[in-house]
Amino acid sequence: MDIRIGLGYDLHRLAEGRRLVLGGVEISFSKGLVGHSDADVLVHAIIDALLGAAGEGDIGGLFPDADPRFKDADSRTLLAAVMDRLRSKRLAVRHVDCVVVAEAPRIGPHAARMKDALAPLLGLAPDRLGIKAKTNEGTGLIGEGAAIACWAVALLESIDPAERF
Ligand code: MG
Repeated sequence: MDIRIGLGYDLHRLAEGRRLVLGGVEISFSKGLVGHSDADVLVHAIIDALLGAAGEGDIGGLFPDADPRFKDADSRTLLAAVMDRLRSKRLAVRHVDCVVVAEAPRIGPHAARMKDALAPLLGLAPDRLGIKAKTNEGTGLIGEGAAIACWAVALLESIDPAERF
């Protein structure tokens, strides 16, 4: 069995006047994440975990934030492009686990909706996509509600050319 793991991390600042898109879903909140794309920090961390496992660099290399094509991009389309890349390398995603670090809003109540949005894109059953949430116990930028961070790990399996995929 040829397996690979990847680790992803991302952080975006929160600001008023932006919609909050997290885990591929929109959440009603007074602030949203700031970024060139929709700034979906959870999807960005997953993308970096996948690219790391695939030996394909990182999200900034693939989708530069100076590129106008990715202005306000739906991060799910970036994830779909990464999945195409993995399929072309005959790499199957077997499991993804994530930790969202946010003081507010509460992430737990939205986790099921996020799984429904992202698991099909990853080709995973919902129980193979973990989305967990932590606060930062009131400390630092995240604790002050100025940013949201996310960690993700991905397990990929290299599929034999003789195998149906
Ligand atoms: Mg990002």
